[in-house]
Amino acid sequence: MKLKSTKLLFLYRSFLFRFVKFETDNEKLENIVKALNIKNRKQRIEFIYAEMIKSISNYYKEDLCQFKNNQCIAQRKNKSNYTNGCCRLCLYKTGGDCLVNNVACKMFYCNAALKNFKELKYNDLELFKVLSITNQFMLKSDYFTKEEDVIKDLNYGILIGTLRVTYRFIKQFIYYKKN
Ligand code: SF4
Ligand code: SF4
Repeated sequence: MKLKSTKLLFLYRSFLFRFVKFETDNEKLENIVKALNIKNRKQRIEFIYAEMIKSISNYYKEDLCQFKNNQCIAQRKNKSNYTNGCCRLCLYKTGGDCLVNNVACKMFYCNAALKNFKELKYNDLELFKVLSITNQFMLKSDYFTKEEDVIKDLNYGILIGTLRVTYRFIKQFIYYKKN
């Protein structure tokens, strides 16, 4: 079946189209077609996630946070005593580049970082539209979380995903209190 636009994605990713193979003549829709042709839910989420990480990294090539002596541009501007920028309370901070590959974190830049740079929006990422509304919401909110956990949250769906997020939130809160 030929895909011409992104209008009916909610239908095309559903069970009804499980045995339909999609094609397209539009270069811009090629990745969407690849995603729709992956019929296994987890594998499709993994593909979308990996492609989104690639697109975000390609877009944000510049060093917008400008870390110096472990303080980012916002912390230096505000003469803060804290270090590690907005990762300072995260369990996974390394003091350098984050290795966790979290989409929500990679999409976040504060006003100080974006002063002379146009922000990338979720809707600029074609593959984001292939996710369901609830998965879009979860992906956007799942900060401070490892890639494999975000993928599990998206795969399990909103109910189990929310329980998992709540558990991690409590763990994060305890870490915050201790630090
Ligand atoms: S996004 Fe802003 S607060 Fe976070 S590390 Fe970059 S400059 Fe600092
Ligand atoms: S997971 Fe997010 S908050 Fe934690 S260190 Fe990585 S980028 Fe920072």
